[in-house]
Amino acid sequence: MPLNDPEYLPLSYLSQMGYCPRRVGLLLNEQVWLESADTAKGRKEHENVHTQRIERRGQEIKLFEYAVFSDVLGVSGKCDLIEARQDPSGCRIPPVAFPVRLYPVEYKHGKLRDEQEYNIQLCAQAMCLEEMYHTTIPEGAIFYLSSHRRQTVVLDESLRQLVRETAKELHRIQEALAIPAARHSEKCRRCSLLEYCMPDVRQSARAYCQQLAEEAKEMEVESI
Ligand code: SF4
Repeated sequence: MPLNDPEYLPLSYLSQMGYCPRRVGLLLNEQVWLESADTAKGRKEHENVHTQRIERRGQEIKLFEYAVFSDVLGVSGKCDLIEARQDPSGCRIPPVAFPVRLYPVEYKHGKLRDEQEYNIQLCAQAMCLEEMYHTTIPEGAIFYLSSHRRQTVVLDESLRQLVRETAKELHRIQEALAIPAARHSEKCRRCSLLEYCMPDVRQSARAYCQQLAEEAKEMEVESI
């Protein structure tokens, strides 16, 4: 599925797509970003991990914040952690000097739980690495920072297909400048864009409120 769009979209948006396509439309096409207690906590917890570095212990090397991309999926981003274990039948990956087997690990805040969107993000990272280094990665893990627990994720064909479909839809939303319709769900309560999105308000009323907000902002700028 080669994507014609030469622009790479953020890999992490594949996870956002699994959370809510409307959220992605607002982030991508209206450049809305509102901080919530959850996003602030997540950012804080990630700060320790998000430092590019390499740690070596025996035959295992840990590569933190490793840049990846995929021409096929049209995405680029970073792996929180890649565990690279020496294996003569493995692949070569810079800056490691010997062949290794790769195992991506994505860090998430909160307690151990099963979130499909995290699996999609992890699998996309593995697919990037496979494309970049001509290797096969059958498994990865999500590490939950609050509970210090790791959940293994099998990167099977059905998950890979979901990644491809999600990437395709992500590009469609960007190309069409689409803002998918709101679908109220349990996730809205935790969504940092709840106030802006107004999922319970009908489309016409929502557009009217947003227009008023924009006009108020313009008036503020004019009066400065
Ligand atoms: S409030 Fe709900 S519908 Fe709106 S972007 Fe967030 S999760 Fe999606």
